[in-house]
Amino acid sequence: MTTIPHWINGAAVPGTDTQPVFNPATGAVRAQVVLGGGAEVDAAVQAATAAFASWSESSLTQRTQVMFAFRQLLLDHEEELGRIISAEHGKTIDDARGEITRGREVVEYVCGLGDVLKGSYSDQVSRGIDVHNFRQPLGVVAGITPFNFPAMVPLWMHPIAIATGNTFILKPSERDPSAANFVAQLYQRAGLPDGVFNVVHGGKEAVDAILTHPGVEAVSFVGSTPIATYVHQQATAHGKRVQALGGAKNHAVVLPDADLEFAANHITAGAYGSAGERCMALSVTIAVGDTADRLIDILTRKANDVHVGPGDTPGTDMGPLITKAAQERVENAVGTAAVQGATIVVDGRGLKIEGHENGFFTGPSLLDHVTPDMDAYKDELFGPVLAILRVDTLDEAIDVINANPYGNGTALFTGSGEAARRFQRRIKVGMIGINVPVPVPMSYYSFGGWKDSLIGDHPIHGPEGIRFCTRPKVVTTRWPRTSHQITAGFTFPTSS
Ligand code: NAD
Repeated sequence: MTTIPHWINGAAVPGTDTQPVFNPATGAVRAQVVLGGGAEVDAAVQAATAAFASWSESSLTQRTQVMFAFRQLLLDHEEELGRIISAEHGKTIDDARGEITRGREVVEYVCGLGDVLKGSYSDQVSRGIDVHNFRQPLGVVAGITPFNFPAMVPLWMHPIAIATGNTFILKPSERDPSAANFVAQLYQRAGLPDGVFNVVHGGKEAVDAILTHPGVEAVSFVGSTPIATYVHQQATAHGKRVQALGGAKNHAVVLPDADLEFAANHITAGAYGSAGERCMALSVTIAVGDTADRLIDILTRKANDVHVGPGDTPGTDMGPLITKAAQERVENAVGTAAVQGATIVVDGRGLKIEGHENGFFTGPSLLDHVTPDMDAYKDELFGPVLAILRVDTLDEAIDVINANPYGNGTALFTGSGEAARRFQRRIKVGMIGINVPVPVPMSYYSFGGWKDSLIGDHPIHGPEGIRFCTRPKVVTTRWPRTSHQITAGFTFPTSS
């Protein structure tokens, strides 16, 4: 059986404690991953600190060249990396390739580093005085990432950190850890010096070692809200800069003037794509006015058409869940919803896939007459369950969404510009789609929700990512021709 090692200072590093990594489509253990703690994190911090001394002095051109080469390698190896992700996560290979593409776009953003990192210059702010600013890297940055995007979410972090001159330690999810090591090897082949990108595997022990290590300057976290809150508190208490993105409950709103076939198509894909294990999954649809019955008829047909199977089988729309525990949690939630008064319109429980009877599969479920007090509405189920709420007006729909503790993404389906404008201005959500179901911002914008979906105030990648990974300096300069002509004043300096 394969053991997945750490990657520190450009080489694989073995460990003694391990944990199984499953193939969710078969339910079988496919590898063991090493579990690091204080010693492994310290070794990675030492390697990253040593590498920072020269990497932070490298030219923008050198760093950009590494990013161009890395980008090409990601493209060349997309299929291979997609298969690795699919085998450990369960999502389809095409879906995995989609996440690699979206992650690669962040690399493309920093391929324009010379522009992205440009400072500004103000001439003659006072007589003979100019001001300019520039940004410098922080040092060692760590990333702690969730299972659901084992390539894309780390790619939101490390290209930005590394291109801006930092060194990086990735602590990926222990459930699908292989993508991290594959990416480490691509970086090495791209010419990145050893020690600039490191991977320490593990769970809470490794995370705690990162959060308390004095050599780590900043922590990027993406995962569930309770852990994001914990990471934010611990890391800030230890003097670190923290970016902490949390969980979600994303609503679609369908207005009576929407093209219902179009909306249902996109809501189905947004709810059940990647088995609902996306932080931008549409897990709730609010049907406004008289749309509910017509919409549910179409959604039912489409949910029944979703082809569930192993992620590496052509024609599969949706794979298994990540673990047996996740499968049980989601199926129990569907049962509880019925007990609490929801109607199960499509029941995905108990699905068995021929030849994969031990896989962690559950089919798409569609729940009608869900209300905000039900657990199926309140909890982030992170599975292929779509809950329908019914309200009379757009304003009521907005109030429901604004009362929800999460605020990651939302989508409005309408033909009305006025309704769209009202929605986007009033809604307390960070990422909004107008007739777009999963509005993940492009890499040159930043990604981040509101409320419990983002702890603290640092969204990720794009301009916010550049700011997060660097700190500014402002330089005020005077080059007098004859210094004795300028008198020093005892009053606070003002410009003249
Ligand atoms: P998780 O919070 O369980 O794990 C995330 C990371 O934290 C992993 O690396 C894990 O090893 C570590 N971790 C887990 N328990 C810990 C503990 N007690 N102490 C310290 N570290 C711990 O999340 P997950 O199940 O891997 O991923 C799914 C969650 O991530 C969902 O809530 C989803 O909404 C969220 N997510 C959010 C975004 C976003 O951009 N907002 C993106 C992707 C996923």
